[in-house]
Amino acid sequence: MTDGLIEEVKEVLKTVDDPELPSVSVADLGMVHTIKVVNNQVFVTMVPTFAGCPALDFIKEDVKKAVLELDLVTDCQVEFSFQEKWSTDAITEEGKRQLKKHGIAPPPEDYQPGQQWSVDCPYCGSDYTSMDNVFGPTACRSILYCSSCKNPFEAMKPVVEYIIN
Ligand SMILES: [Zn+2]
Repeated sequence: MTDGLIEEVKEVLKTVDDPELPSVSVADLGMVHTIKVVNNQVFVTMVPTFAGCPALDFIKEDVKKAVLELDLVTDCQVEFSFQEKWSTDAITEEGKRQLKKHGIAPPPEDYQPGQQWSVDCPYCGSDYTSMDNVFGPTACRSILYCSSCKNPFEAMKPVVEYIIN
């Protein structure tokens, strides 16, 4: 019974998008840490993606709303755990596919902190890309430029660890 509900919650979390990354769900971003169900009350612990992202409160609300729509759920509490470390490696294959579809290059794999990084162009797959603006539209993303197909594109910054104050 409880297991069934946890599965339902997992499914519903695949429909909750990160407000800064439309159509990439919080589940596919690897943000869902634990789901607990006690007497039809759901407790979701999430791992924040980027420390600089101001969207955590929105995500909390969206997750809560989505979970509460499940018939059996009577209450839902969502918390972010700052003890857990999220890394861009936690993004699922589906998450990477969705990012690319929206012209956002998924972060590089096996990135080491402090390293220079580069990603393949999400449009043509070329690795002949250059960093245009490290800051990008949000703290999470950078603008890159593809020298093959001449498209600018966004890339998620790689995160392996960050410092928590
Ligand atoms: Zn390209």
